[in-house]
Amino acid sequence: MPEQPGKNAIEVRRVRKVFGTGEAQVAALDTVSVSIRENEFFTLLGPSGCGKTTLLRLIAGFDFPSAGEILLHGHDIAPLPPFKRPVNTVFQSYALFPHMTVADNIGFGLEMLGKPKAEIKARVGEMLKLVKMEALSGRRTSQISGGQQQRVALARALAPQPKVLLLDEPLSALDYKLRKEMQIELKRLQNETGITFIFVTHDQEEALTMSDRIAVMSAGKILQVGSPHDIYDRPAERFVADFIGETNFLKGTVVSKKSGVATVKIASDAMVAAGFPDSFEPSGEVTVVVRPEHADLIADAAKGTVAGTLSNVVYFGTDTHYHVKLDGGDDFIVRHQNSRSSAVAFEPGAKVGIVFEDGGARILRD
Ligand code: ATP
Repeated sequence: MPEQPGKNAIEVRRVRKVFGTGEAQVAALDTVSVSIRENEFFTLLGPSGCGKTTLLRLIAGFDFPSAGEILLHGHDIAPLPPFKRPVNTVFQSYALFPHMTVADNIGFGLEMLGKPKAEIKARVGEMLKLVKMEALSGRRTSQISGGQQQRVALARALAPQPKVLLLDEPLSALDYKLRKEMQIELKRLQNETGITFIFVTHDQEEALTMSDRIAVMSAGKILQVGSPHDIYDRPAERFVADFIGETNFLKGTVVSKKSGVATVKIASDAMVAAGFPDSFEPSGEVTVVVRPEHADLIADAAKGTVAGTLSNVVYFGTDTHYHVKLDGGDDFIVRHQNSRSSAVAFEPGAKVGIVFEDGGARILRD
């Protein structure tokens, strides 16, 4: 999908952040560049230690880059201390004041900014309504649930009308059901306020369901930026495909190439047609990736693109996973969506063929 134009809220330009010295030196961010647009729900996604929080802290002004610059609406924000940046943060721990009421917590930032009492009261009222907490405005935050505390933390961060809201794994302390509810709530808040949200998570499903765009990070670098659809269906490299969703990997050798599609000979000597991104010219040894839902089983093994023996059938209610040992020795999973009329047609031990959906097989950089 082509990049959509839009004004940039934040531009991160060739930013490096190094902690420690000598042997103990760690590049938490290794020359990272990314632009985040106005009104965007933008997610930084990656495993623990990849540099997500570090990037957020640099944008917030809690720490400074070792090199590079960060622009907010085109202006370098390096000289601005955190409280002068039109940026606010919601932390994983919420950091609410337990002895203060819900309303006082929400108004706290405005008090610090020296806003007039009447303005604070009106704004707190609006925020209570926005996060649906009017009924509990007089309760202490030590006497409300985790989900309610999360709402108060959001309202407090939104009250001063920041241009950008930074959210550092804000839902990770909530149980599964509440997390799902708050995901919808956060999306609604972002839509209603039009504020740019920069959201940090290591949960791929959360990133896919909530974001306008996602940056996938690993070891201090951004590997790919794109819409959830781009990242899932057109991962640029192996790490991205592996980190987001289940994927089958087949090693092979490129035997020919024609207009964006390569023919790859895999371990069983089967020939697989695989697409590849414009940014790279595959040759020699390559890895072909196929999502489990982009493949299907057929009874006639000889008619499959690849063939093997069904080793296991796992029923998940909404779908069934078929585990196949391919003739060349590779393991392969086919995911089949269940419907009321679909019966399990294949039993373990059966010889099966696997066909790939058009465009389902792709070659990625390792
Ligand atoms: P998590 O999901 O676990 O919070 P993260 O992706 O947010 O991880 P960061 O907290 O940004 O990762 O850390 C990136 C790297 O920088 C890690 O290797 C971490 O140990 C290191 N690091 C972060 N802060 C410091 C610090 N103050 N001093 C030294 N090293 C640090």
